[in-house]
Amino acid sequence: MERSHSAANAAADRKITFTRTATCKAVLEKQMAIEQTLSIIKPDAVERNQIGAILSMIEGSGLRVNAMRFVHLSKPQAEAFYAVHKERPFFGELVEFMTRGPVVVIALEGDNAVSAYRALMGATDPAKAEPGTIRAKYGSNLGENACHGSDSAENAKTEVSFFFPELS
Ligand code: ADP
Ligand code: MG
Repeated sequence: MERSHSAANAAADRKITFTRTATCKAVLEKQMAIEQTLSIIKPDAVERNQIGAILSMIEGSGLRVNAMRFVHLSKPQAEAFYAVHKERPFFGELVEFMTRGPVVVIALEGDNAVSAYRALMGATDPAKAEPGTIRAKYGSNLGENACHGSDSAENAKTEVSFFFPELS
């Protein structure tokens, strides 16, 4: 009697443990958002031989390189990529900068990749970027700031397919 009672208790305990584990897994999976984002190593960083250092920071952060290409943007390509900024006073300067030499375009993947990579890059202005971020380490000024990163999951989709249509 005693024995079967404790066997029943053990079975109930196992069931509770299983249910808890399954619930925790479901909650964790919900919290994880595997995203893609677009990174560009800009001409200033390519000119200064900083591709490897920046890639090393990216991989060190846990983000995965899904696809990567070396490309010298044409003026129409740079204008199209940065079309959202076409009314801004710095648009001409930005297009000139982004076309002055080759860049490395990279499709990154990871948990919350968009915000994770924005945090790794630091603020647009390298002088205001958190110490240890890519822009703080390798950016020169507000325009020549070493790298690009998508600013939302929606824009990331558009930007990744701009360079890697095969991934969408
Ligand atoms: P982010 O690259 O951080 O998303 P923005 O989307 O605002 O920043 O700007 C796009 C790029 O345009 C910046 O990374 C930088 O290269 C350039 N830029 C932004 N603001 C200025 C500015 N005031 N003067 C010159 N270049 C700028
Ligand atoms: Mg931006």
